Amino acid sequence: MLTPESSVLQLSGVGKARAAQLERLGISTLKDLIYCFPKSYEDRGNIIPLSLIDEYNAHAYVLTVASEVKTAKIRQNLSISKFRAFDDSASCEVVFFNAPYVKDVFHIGATFRFFGKISIVKGKIQFSNPKYEPYIEGEPLSRFFPVYPLTEGLSGKIMDKLIEKALSAISEQIKDPLPETIRLDNSLPTLTYALKNIHNPESEEALKKAIKRLAFDEMLYFGIGVSLSRQYKNSFSGVRFSPCDMKEFTEKLPYELTDSQKSVINDIYSDTVIKTKTESNSHMARIVVGDVGSGKTVCAEAAIFLAVKSGFQAVLMAPTEILARQHYIEISELFDKMGFKTELLVGACGAKEKRRIYEAMKSGEGNIFIGTHALLSENTSFKNLGLVITDEQHRFGVAQRAVLNDKNKSAHMLVMSATPIPRTLALAMYGDLDVSRITELPKGRQTVDTFVIDESYRDRLNGFIEKQISLGGQCYVVCPAIEGEDEIVKNDFLNDKPKMKNVLDFTVKLRQIFENYRIEALHGKTNAKEKDEIMQGFSKGEIQILVATTIIEVGVNVPNATLMIIEAADRYGLSQLHQLRGRVGRGNRKSYCVLVSDSSAQKARERLEIMKNSHDGFEIANRDLEMRGPGDFFASKNSESFRQSGGFEFKLANLSNDSDLVKAAFSTAKDIVAKDPTLSLPYHRAISEEIQKFIAPISSTIS
Ligand code: ADP
Ligand code: MG
Repeated sequence: MLTPESSVLQLSGVGKARAAQLERLGISTLKDLIYCFPKSYEDRGNIIPLSLIDEYNAHAYVLTVASEVKTAKIRQNLSISKFRAFDDSASCEVVFFNAPYVKDVFHIGATFRFFGKISIVKGKIQFSNPKYEPYIEGEPLSRFFPVYPLTEGLSGKIMDKLIEKALSAISEQIKDPLPETIRLDNSLPTLTYALKNIHNPESEEALKKAIKRLAFDEMLYFGIGVSLSRQYKNSFSGVRFSPCDMKEFTEKLPYELTDSQKSVINDIYSDTVIKTKTESNSHMARIVVGDVGSGKTVCAEAAIFLAVKSGFQAVLMAPTEILARQHYIEISELFDKMGFKTELLVGACGAKEKRRIYEAMKSGEGNIFIGTHALLSENTSFKNLGLVITDEQHRFGVAQRAVLNDKNKSAHMLVMSATPIPRTLALAMYGDLDVSRITELPKGRQTVDTFVIDESYRDRLNGFIEKQISLGGQCYVVCPAIEGEDEIVKNDFLNDKPKMKNVLDFTVKLRQIFENYRIEALHGKTNAKEKDEIMQGFSKGEIQILVATTIIEVGVNVPNATLMIIEAADRYGLSQLHQLRGRVGRGNRKSYCVLVSDSSAQKARERLEIMKNSHDGFEIANRDLEMRGPGDFFASKNSESFRQSGGFEFKLANLSNDSDLVKAAFSTAKDIVAKDPTLSLPYHRAISEEIQKFIAPISSTIS
């Protein structure tokens, strides 16, 4: 009998090769298959007439076959089958490649619902390789069709079939981990209902319910993980740093600290040096929230100073290698002078170098270690780790990894977050952390003038790039995708997406326009060495235009860059746009941000206008939350900065547009842990099993 834990190999029609393809998508059991959720849906319910002629978007058309199917063999491996079809408004030619069998499907007079993109060929409408189903007046057809993540050799059709098989085999066996009271209190459907409808929605309503339920589950498990890990950490007592005069640190800085920075550093000092809390434990578990450019790094450096002065080691984890390197350059310069040794541990380090660094951790020869979030999960051990700093930038979902690690039981924890997470969400997400806020920017910081334009301004925009570069500035161009393919899961994913723009095509285009400038592309698939060279080239001003994905949103600091252009700007959350904009205006040159959008949607326009008028990250985040819901604050596995940091995977929470649901899930999580700290009550058993997977290091504390 098949069970949720059965291997996919046990499904009929799945052999070794197919299983290997599924493995690439992280699927090995039937349950994995069912938890492989669609990345979007085709809406085939909205039938439009052919005469509307939309070549850019896929639509559904109801067409009647008007001629017999004729198949012609063009080449050895290519046959074309054609026939004519019509609706009330127009007629078209329907074309299938290498599908001679369609002659047995399409008979004159029969009506079908077709789905796909039409094109105009020599002035006539042509419909190539559409999807189709027989259409009978009065008999409703399903409306939403799942679109799955695919991999080479694994087509959508096959995924559909496999998931259908898995669902019918085991959907009744999957037991619902949620106690009924929680489910009913939050008006959630059963898990079986949700799983069926996420794959094969009966209606839009049913799909929304399914998303709500599955998003709730993710946030609940995550919330429980956060609460448990905090509880776990509190069961160890923290280290103490020695009192010292902070002047020794501040006098080495090239600038005066802002009042906000002073107050954050005070908080850190009391958390780590002065025992203010009465409880036996006294860890610092603090998050510093401050807008881009507000100067969080120096607060982290102050904490590092306290740690190393007291003889402890400190770790700083950044979300990307680029950022880790940048931190390394700044921090090693500062601490070398004081006689402390800083090490950079990134993927690009050779095996020998890595071994040397591991040795330095163990022996205590190294004082400060900087790297990506892999730093703590690697096979490392420290002599006396006293401080772990996570530079989380703005996607949340990584902090808990720092908390969850066994190596830093007694170490203090500091998280830096550049996303002004709205207060309502911050309470839910970071409820267990003490919060310090930086509320002012360093003196003399200028605002970045922001413009919203559409394609018709392209030539003028190119002129503007030319002007900025000739004045000695540099330019970023951000595109939402690397190649043709889509990188962003959209919040309102039921709607049609605007056309994609991608880094590689754009780089080629810009190189044609600006022949005399050096233009380079940077994205998640660029290898580490090349990435390094490009970032250095851009820092030194040898590269004038950097075309990139949002990979550069995370903390890159090139003060000479004066122009930030964001293509298809309507595809991003406002907080993300604000982050990107924060990459310019870092030096003393006047800087600009240009948001390019061809979206005619009123809402998209309104959102972008907010960027024009506001420069306050908190205000922007709040407006974004109002307009788009909390989804953007969850890292999706599709976002590039997230993929590099390897945090908790939210498959659905990032689609949630319901703040109340977020709050409900987190408060339920807290209640559960407060009531049953080891999750040993029988009705929490199933939940406990669910979260074992991602809280492995502390799973011994729950039953
Ligand atoms: P973020 O908060 O985005 O991480 P950073 O720490 O990278 O910001 O700081 C941005 C820039 O501001 C850096 O170049 C840093 O040296 C500078 N900076 C930080 N604090 C001050 C200050 N008090 N006065 C002047 N410049 C500062
Ligand atoms: Mg920073």
